[in-house]
Amino acid sequence: MNPKLLRAGIEDRLALALTTPISYHDYRIKNYIDLEEPLLEVVIQQRKQMQKLLIIEAYAKNINQYVDLLFFRTSSYHDIIFQEGSTIFVTSARVNKKNKRLQLLQPQKVANYKIGKIFAHYKVPIRGDIFEELKREYLTKEALLQEGLPEEAVERILHIHYPNEQFYKEYKRHKRFFGKYLEALKFVEAYRYMRALKQKRVYYPSICQIEANVQEFYKSLPFKLTNDQKRALEDIQKDLASKKAARRIVVGDVGSGKSLVMFGAAFMAKRAILMAPTTILATQLYNEAKRFLPTMKIGLVTSNTKVDLDQYDFLIGTHALLYKKLPKVCLVMIDEQHRFGTKQRNLLRKLVESSDGSPHFLQFSATPIPRTQAMMQSALVDFSFIKETPFKKDITTEVISKEDFKRLLAHITKEIEGNRQVLIVYPVVESKEYTYKSLEEAKEFWLRYFEGVYVTHGKDKEKDEVLEDFRQKGKILLATTVIEVGISLPKLSTIVIVGAENMGLATLHQLRGRVSREGLKGYCFLYTHDKANERLQAFSKIKDGFKIAELDLRYRKSGDILTGKEQSGKSFKFLNMAEDRAIIQKAREYVS
Ligand code: ADP
Ligand code: MG
Repeated sequence: MNPKLLRAGIEDRLALALTTPISYHDYRIKNYIDLEEPLLEVVIQQRKQMQKLLIIEAYAKNINQYVDLLFFRTSSYHDIIFQEGSTIFVTSARVNKKNKRLQLLQPQKVANYKIGKIFAHYKVPIRGDIFEELKREYLTKEALLQEGLPEEAVERILHIHYPNEQFYKEYKRHKRFFGKYLEALKFVEAYRYMRALKQKRVYYPSICQIEANVQEFYKSLPFKLTNDQKRALEDIQKDLASKKAARRIVVGDVGSGKSLVMFGAAFMAKRAILMAPTTILATQLYNEAKRFLPTMKIGLVTSNTKVDLDQYDFLIGTHALLYKKLPKVCLVMIDEQHRFGTKQRNLLRKLVESSDGSPHFLQFSATPIPRTQAMMQSALVDFSFIKETPFKKDITTEVISKEDFKRLLAHITKEIEGNRQVLIVYPVVESKEYTYKSLEEAKEFWLRYFEGVYVTHGKDKEKDEVLEDFRQKGKILLATTVIEVGISLPKLSTIVIVGAENMGLATLHQLRGRVSREGLKGYCFLYTHDKANERLQAFSKIKDGFKIAELDLRYRKSGDILTGKEQSGKSFKFLNMAEDRAIIQKAREYVS
């Protein structure tokens, strides 16, 4: 790429194509005066300075008459530009007629390179004539076709940068990019993004190529897997047999049974490592794995683990794994991948890598992503989706306010009497300023009127113990959003989320997913002072996490599943992830 363009932040040809004009101006020479877009080729005659006013008499060649150029503010610039005898092009936003003579108020010189065409103006930190030359050099039909774009898109892009009469007319009417032109810009944007991802993708040779039989795993289970679980496992079966090391993200809503997919993958790989974000989760997975994989030697790895890890087939642990000497395994997995930084996730994989190759690498995410986003990201990683849940989840969601509190208390009392558990999530641990009660402020009330009340939060050192005690004998758990992580509380039937309107829909959905884990009738109460809140109302009517992700997209910028960061800073200029599915789909076909 040209260094001048690079310095202007335009990294490649398609980025240049996406650097769209900020305005257009018709600089075609006409032999009449076009009041909207006047352009006169004038020969400068006399200058008359009348106090602050400068009047320059000029002969306009294209309309064969004398005109006056009027300047109310003058500087040495005017002496240089408007020298007697010189021929220049001028334009002005204001044209008057006085004593049959045209007056151009505060006219400006138009550079020669703009003359004779409908000119596209850009806002770039490059001198206009130079940019124009670069544009003509880089944005040609041949070059854009070479980039792999379809001809139709190329033509439209060229019209945007080299406007013709028809484009210009339409643009003036809409005052923005529209219709097929906007579509072409969206297409190029999607195409460029996916192509970059695809180029970033590196294929590593796999350490192990395994011909596994997933059916054996199915047969060993006490229940049938869902079709989506099977489909994910079949994707993984193919991955394991490949010479290329797998890079896959398994996305499944809360309670969709991702752990069984992990176990099936470990079963096929024979030697595997699984990292989970907390001790409580790792322990839960470990206990479950022992149940479903009786033939494997399974080890739990936390910071307290001292033994030699080589003796195990399947290691399940926390980030403590990152500090251990790890055995050579075929498969590395990460649960709740968004709880780890990119560095940690890749480090675990690299610890197992050797000159022989890279392990197959599977990440599991409980954050459903919109279809469009998955399509885009699939240039970089493969995806499997688990949309079904093994248990029909029956959760009633309701937006409530202060006036519903009595009713809420009655509901909580009834659930507790039925030996079910209740979780109440507060937005902050302590603070007096906040619009909602903090955990500290609220706990007094619950402790006074209820038994079996447990309290914990993210910074609580005893969090794991509290959760464990609560799981066994608690009635009400007061917490902050720590509880978001996939811990299993089978008796939990009700969740109350305080200040719900301040949380992202993805978080709300995660929280709601804590209840009704194993088919219990569930209740989710969104407590807010803003009962009419459109987002919350919409959320209360939708259960499917993937649909919620699409809804979320409409309300805010999408999160980036690969970096875990909000994508807002890097959001698209033209593309709308919530609406442009067809365009993204088409661009994807052109990328691959
Ligand atoms: P998540 O996807 O949220 O991690 P889990 O893997 O923890 O969900 O699964 C939730 C519960 O459902 C677990 O108790 C698990 O053993 C159980 N489970 C998973 N798959 C099935 C299935 N196909 N049939 C019955 N129970 C299942
Ligand atoms: Mg899980």
